[in-house]
Amino acid sequence: VRVYVPRDAAALAVGADAVAGALQRECAARGLQVQIVRNGSRGLLWLETLVEVETPEGRVAYGPVTADAVPGLIDAGMLQGGSHALCHGLTEAIAYLARQERLTFARVGVIDPLDLSDYASHGGWQGLERAARMESAAIVQEVLDSGLRGRGGAAFPAGIKWKTVAAAAGPQKYIACNADEGDSGTFADRLLMEGDPYTLIEGMAIAGLAVGATQGLVYVRSEYPHAIATLREAIARAEAAGWLGRNVAGSGRAFHMEVRKGAGSYVCGEETAMLESIEGRRGIVRAKPPLPAIAGLWGRPTVINNVITLATVPLILARGAAFYQGFGMGRSRGTLPFQLAGNIARGGLVEKAFGLSLRELVEDFGGGTATGRAIKAVQVGGPLGSYVAPPDWDAPLDYEVYAAKGNVVGHGGIVVHDDTADMAQLARYAMEFCAIESCGKCTPCRIGSTRGVEVIDRIVRAGGDPAAHASQVALLENLCDTMQHGSMCAMGGMTPYPVRSALTHYPQDFGIESTTAA
Ligand code: SF4
Repeated sequence: VRVYVPRDAAALAVGADAVAGALQRECAARGLQVQIVRNGSRGLLWLETLVEVETPEGRVAYGPVTADAVPGLIDAGMLQGGSHALCHGLTEAIAYLARQERLTFARVGVIDPLDLSDYASHGGWQGLERAARMESAAIVQEVLDSGLRGRGGAAFPAGIKWKTVAAAAGPQKYIACNADEGDSGTFADRLLMEGDPYTLIEGMAIAGLAVGATQGLVYVRSEYPHAIATLREAIARAEAAGWLGRNVAGSGRAFHMEVRKGAGSYVCGEETAMLESIEGRRGIVRAKPPLPAIAGLWGRPTVINNVITLATVPLILARGAAFYQGFGMGRSRGTLPFQLAGNIARGGLVEKAFGLSLRELVEDFGGGTATGRAIKAVQVGGPLGSYVAPPDWDAPLDYEVYAAKGNVVGHGGIVVHDDTADMAQLARYAMEFCAIESCGKCTPCRIGSTRGVEVIDRIVRAGGDPAAHASQVALLENLCDTMQHGSMCAMGGMTPYPVRSALTHYPQDFGIESTTAA
């Protein structure tokens, strides 16, 4: 019997290793033959540790399983897919998963992450094999035609960036993958790297062939030791199998890869600070121009893309640009792996085409708050994203629709708060976070964030004095303007988003009676 027990960090955090150990011991004691496969996570995080048993009908899911529950599960016939209070039936039929459109994450949680033959038998390397037979310009055109935009948050068209690097002259070019996933509530990059690392490797190799780069670097945050270890092992195995190295997939062209470990700074997720860090310096934002596409790593033309962007490329090459274009709405093509976190009943990863609403995500998929109380606020796009106004929870998730309302889709991180949340304190936290993480290069961010904390404190204290209160609110607005328009990068430039949206949509938490909510 084949049984799947995730090796993903989210599952390990709730005892997946102990579950695997208990299964092994219990089966040995009973003389039962069992093959335990350590897969990635399906992304149904509230069910971790999610154990799956292979049956003739498909995999049957049990969760959340603890080591203590294993003997009882085996007694109940788990190894034959038998019923139990923890049984959810066929994994693929669980509504949370069945309603998704898993394109980039099609293999995550399904395969053994480091098994090359498992990867190949689930459609792996098809994109790279096709790219190896194509002219570089044709690969770039395919990515351009797909409409794929950067999934790290900025949503810049990936094909345009690639075209710039392909056209840039230089004896050496690089592909730099940004895996410094530091936004609160986000975990898609990690889930992908731990659950299907060859997809990222394949995407980077395709990018290398497309722009003429022979070296790829993955910059992974140090808080992701399992992702780092998995990627390093996967790179070694892919190289030994000829998918990387001097002759990538028989193309006659070279592409080598390595992993660089970050040092734990949020601002190193900003692309130019990441370049500084990779080059061995303190992570400080570089002034642009020059664009990294022209002068990036060590002054050479460099493609910088996020993990999900690059991991989506193999599918585009394998199935064609039109297939990927067929998902989404407007200029937001394809899918986005949304990540449900915070105070939510069913936290996890939901890959869906652009166009669904925030309400569908947090209510239908997420099941509302974990505390069972009413949802008060939802922050979309990480710690620099807005608290989306309740009337906008029904708007389609689309880059342009969100931008028109002053919101951001970002990396797809969604953090939910119930009605006990104090939005003034959350706004204060946004400023405090900026003060802690600021690289210090520009004044609006370095000084403004500290002043922002003080002003919000004064607003809250001035509740009984309308004149003092109004003057401090005006000061905060002024400060937000300065930070938004005067900062060098998104850290200082976007911190006003959560602050202003909290102030606008939840004025009562700041001691303001009349609402100005949209
Ligand atoms: Fe550094 Fe902040 Fe300025 Fe960005 S906005 S360059 S993080 S000081």
